[in-house]
Amino acid sequence: MLLKILNELQATSTTLVAVSKTKPVAQILELYAQGQRHFGENKVQEVVEKYEALPKDIHWHLIGHLQSNKVKYVASFVHLIHSVDSLKLLEAIDKQAAKNQRVVNCLLQFKIAAEDTKYGLTWEEAVSMLKSETYSTFHHVNICGVMGMATNTADEVTIRSEFRNLRGYFDALKRDFFAQQSDFKEISMGMSGDYLLAIEEGSTMVRIGSLLFGERA
Ligand SMILES: *Cc1c(COP(=O)(O)O)cnc(C)c1O
Repeated sequence: MLLKILNELQATSTTLVAVSKTKPVAQILELYAQGQRHFGENKVQEVVEKYEALPKDIHWHLIGHLQSNKVKYVASFVHLIHSVDSLKLLEAIDKQAAKNQRVVNCLLQFKIAAEDTKYGLTWEEAVSMLKSETYSTFHHVNICGVMGMATNTADEVTIRSEFRNLRGYFDALKRDFFAQQSDFKEISMGMSGDYLLAIEEGSTMVRIGSLLFGERA
């Protein structure tokens, strides 16, 4: 399954983040042995345990909602935080990254789904964050793009239009805030059920769990 997905992603050079949440270290090592290096987790404690147990050349992506007071546990090693949804969280990341003498890569998570259970910024919130005095003082965070989750539905028209909205946010942010920053290039969208649509809509990074590891309990 890994090779099949990698083949599909190859033409567009989309990055595969293998979402290993709830799955044991042994299953991660199976994909690692096949060359996979990007893994995604949604819980702080779980990513810390797996980081400690597994080879150090794995790139760990934090894809779930992150509380400001837990940033300190991941700041020393996390590769990319996909779920930045407030200035307060970004401030905590900047502070903890500085303590570790690192610059931590982040994505701004946008709310693109109709469901109100999903976290994420609105366009207005993102703009006011990026224009804020506080944001201009951060030197240890590197915003590399955007992330979003489409509505959990079989309706392709809905999913496509949500992905298109996220792509629109990316393009507008690039134009208005990040034109000079070559690192601002990632659109993290697409999961097991909708990653082919996401790629068609311009995804640069897909987050795939159950298709690779089997259904979660
Ligand atoms: C669990 C999760 C995924 C992977 O979901 P699958 O449907 O198993 O591919 C992707 N993104 C986020 C944010 C998740 O929490």
